[in-house]
Amino acid sequence: MITSETRMPARTTTPGSVLGLYIHPRTLTILGTYKCTAMCKNCCFDSNPWLTQRLSLDSILSFIEEGSQYSSVELVAFSGGECFLLGEDLVRAVEFATGKGLRTRCVTNGYWAKSLQHGRRRLQQLRDAGLCELNISTGDYHQQWVSEETVVNAACLGVELKLESTLIVIELQKDRRVSTKSLLENPHIFALMQNRAESNFSIIESPWMPMDAQEIVDQPVERLLTRKNVHKRGGCKSVLSTIVVTPTRQLGLCCGLSRELIPELSIEWGENSLSELLAEAGREFMKIWLFVDGPERILAWAASKNPQIDWECRYAHHCHACLALFQDPLVRATISENYRERVDDVLMRYSVLLSHQELLEGAVYG
Ligand code: SF4
Ligand code: SF4
Repeated sequence: MITSETRMPARTTTPGSVLGLYIHPRTLTILGTYKCTAMCKNCCFDSNPWLTQRLSLDSILSFIEEGSQYSSVELVAFSGGECFLLGEDLVRAVEFATGKGLRTRCVTNGYWAKSLQHGRRRLQQLRDAGLCELNISTGDYHQQWVSEETVVNAACLGVELKLESTLIVIELQKDRRVSTKSLLENPHIFALMQNRAESNFSIIESPWMPMDAQEIVDQPVERLLTRKNVHKRGGCKSVLSTIVVTPTRQLGLCCGLSRELIPELSIEWGENSLSELLAEAGREFMKIWLFVDGPERILAWAASKNPQIDWECRYAHHCHACLALFQDPLVRATISENYRERVDDVLMRYSVLLSHQELLEGAVYG
């Protein structure tokens, strides 16, 4: 019987576990609060200004402390919600991570830069604490809450304070007002781009996605997953290499937009050590498969087993395709019934990838 409770492939004896290897974490992501100054449509956490739950500073610091014990971890990213709402705790956490020799990044909507003077003071504090990277999110939905002028101020301040990287990330959808092209009409942004080698400034566009596998955000047709372009989609680089902590002290096993809606990608941060939890999670076949092939290829394979699965021209963002894998009962059942035929091939390629990782880290850290 097909139900949404159909179990996905779980623990398996993998070459990884036989060798005692697993994917090494590279990024710690701290979602200190889901509270936000904005309420963007399709926000992955339904963030809004009235949420109150947040991680204590002690929890944030102990997560960084534990995560920093992995020599493979390089970056601590603060996101949310709106991480600047953590106030002084954000500054202390950036300082702590920097003291551990880690790079730091803040992902923000830029609201704090409405006034240049106030924004400069906020960002200078973080810069003095060691902040390396500033990612500013904007787009049609974001600008209903945070104006373009404020976003431009935030970007200019990132460059003025000589952060190692200042990035604007724009929501991508088919019909929109805000785009790279429209932002470049702003003389300040144009100047930053003209000088981007020295300013370390850049702009990217990322597909905006709905928080339901059945819903669709209209995207340019060339961005949509089809059988003609699925070969260009690869493994998920985030699963098991980014460890996330949420305001409710859950641990996420990737930084995907849809992670919160996929229970299989979260674990309780309880008694066990991070190492034990990661080792256990790293033995689950579905996560290994996501790492090796990525959600789009798994989805296309499932559709080859069951032609009733409707997958083409629906997904532009890989986390949206991932949501379909876990949320669509037909896809879940098809995977559950057929995945065994893929195990040998996937695990063989997984062990090659892990060996490569070990070799690379041996070169970097040896
Ligand atoms: S700014 Fe980001 S966190 Fe805040 S509501 Fe918008 S998408 Fe959500
Ligand atoms: S594709 Fe899936 S596993 Fe990868 S980041 Fe997105 S939600 Fe996480």
